[in-house]
Amino acid sequence: MGLKAWHMALNRDADLVILGAGCAGLSLASRLAGQAPELKVVLVEPRTEYVDDRSWCFWRPTRHDLSDIVSKSWNSWRFSTVDGRQSTHRVPGLAYQYIRGADFYARSRAMIEPAPNVTLNLGVSAGELTQVPAGIRVETSQGSLVARHVIDTRPEATAALLYQCFTGVEIQTAQPHGLDLNRVDLMTRMESDEGGLGFVYALPLTANTALIEWTRFSPVPLSKAELDLGLDHVLARLGFDGARVLRTEGGILPMGREPRHEDSIPGVFLAGNTGGGLRAASGFGFLRIGRWADACAAALRAGRDPFGHPPEPWARREMDRIFLQAIREHPERTADYFAALAGGVPAAGLVRFLSDAARPGDYARIIASLPLLPFLAQIPPRPQLFRTAELVSR
Ligand SMILES: Cc1cc2nc3c(=O)[nH]c(=O)nc-3n(C[C@H](O)[C@H](O)[C@H](O)COP(=O)(O)OP(=O)(O)OC[C@H]3O[C@@H](n4cnc5c(N)ncnc54)[C@H](O)[C@@H]3O)c2cc1C
Repeated sequence: MGLKAWHMALNRDADLVILGAGCAGLSLASRLAGQAPELKVVLVEPRTEYVDDRSWCFWRPTRHDLSDIVSKSWNSWRFSTVDGRQSTHRVPGLAYQYIRGADFYARSRAMIEPAPNVTLNLGVSAGELTQVPAGIRVETSQGSLVARHVIDTRPEATAALLYQCFTGVEIQTAQPHGLDLNRVDLMTRMESDEGGLGFVYALPLTANTALIEWTRFSPVPLSKAELDLGLDHVLARLGFDGARVLRTEGGILPMGREPRHEDSIPGVFLAGNTGGGLRAASGFGFLRIGRWADACAAALRAGRDPFGHPPEPWARREMDRIFLQAIREHPERTADYFAALAGGVPAAGLVRFLSDAARPGDYARIIASLPLLPFLAQIPPRPQLFRTAELVSR
C-alpha cells in the first residue's frame, strides 16, 4: 500500500484493526474479505514479505475448506523411544495433513487483497493501544489509527510451565531418503533426561525431500545454538548430514501459559497464540485458531462484536496442567509417559485428545495408561512453577 493510501487509512475509522497478519490475523481477515462489505478491516503487520516459515500439520478427514492447499497427507504416524519401544497409529477416515506456510499465506492474501473492505498493511508495526471516545487508538510505526474494535495477535513475552523448543530443516537428498512416504515420524527416538524430553519429528514429503525436526520439551527456553547442535546429531544419525537444505524453521512454543491477570482495554480482544490459541499439552494451534476465526467472523458478519480466543474448558485445562506439571517434576520420565500414552491409548482417542475432541472415555484411558502417583501429586494447582521467558520464533 502506498503512503498516500496509508494516510487515507489513518484518517478513516476502521471498524476492526487486526494487529498481526500471521495465522490468526489472516484466518479472520480472509473470512471477512468480501463477506461483510460494510465492515472496514485493517491489518497491521511488520513483515514486508511472507516466506515459507511454518509447516502447519493437523488431523482431519481428507476433504475440508483448506484441502486445496494440503501439500501432503499421511495415514499413519509413529511414536518410538531410543530404547526400541514403538507404536504406529492410524485412524480410518483421518489423515495427518501438511499445509506449507507459504501456501496458507498466498491463499489468504489472494482472498484479502482484492476485497474492498479489507486492507493489509505490510511493513507497519503496532505499538501502544489507548481507549479514546471513538474506540481504540493504535499507535503504529506509520502514525495512529482509530478503530471500534481491535484484535491483537502480536506475540508477547510469556510465562509457561514448559517450552516446546524445536529447530528443523527441509532437506533434499541425492538418493531416495528411504523414509516411509505413508507414515509420519510424529515423536520418534524419544529420550529424556534431567533437562526434559527430546524427539525427532520427520515428515517425508517426496522420495527425496523431508522435513526433519529436533524438539525438546524444556522448563526453560533453549538457545538456537543448542537446538541446532541437537539437529546436527539427528541428521548425522539418519545419514542426512550431506543433504541439501532447502529451508529452515523453528520456534519456542509456550506450553501451559500463566493465566493473564491484568485487565485489557474494553474493545481489545486477544487471539492466536497470545490469546490462548496454542493447546497447552501439544503445541498444536492451527485448527484451534481456524475455529476461533470461523466463530469470530460469523459474529462480525451478523453485526455482533468480535471476541478473543475462548478460554479452555475446565476438564481439558486441568488435564493439560496436571500432565505438564508431572513432566516438569519428572523430566527424566517424559519419554516413558509418552510411550505409555502411545502404547496404551487407542489411536482415535489419542487424536481426539490432541485435537480438543476428547470424550470422557478418552480421558479415562489416558489416566489409566499413565503411572498414577506422579500425576496425583500434581492435582493441587502450583502456579509458582511458571517462569517467564521471551517467546521466540524464527
Ligand atoms: C515453526 C512453527 C511450526 C508450527 N507448526 C504447527 C503445526 O504443525 N500445527 C499446529 O497446529 N500448530 C503449529 N504451530 C503453532 C501455531 O499454529 C503457530 O504458531 C501459528 O502461527 C500461531 O498463529 P498466530 O497468529 O498466533 O501467530 P503468528 O502466525 O506468528 O502471527 C503473529 C503475527 O504478529 C506479527 N507481529 C509481531 N509484532 C507485531 C507488531 N508490533 N505489530 C503488528 N504485528 C506484529 C508477526 O509478524 C506475525 O505475523 C507452529 C508454530 C511454529 C512457530
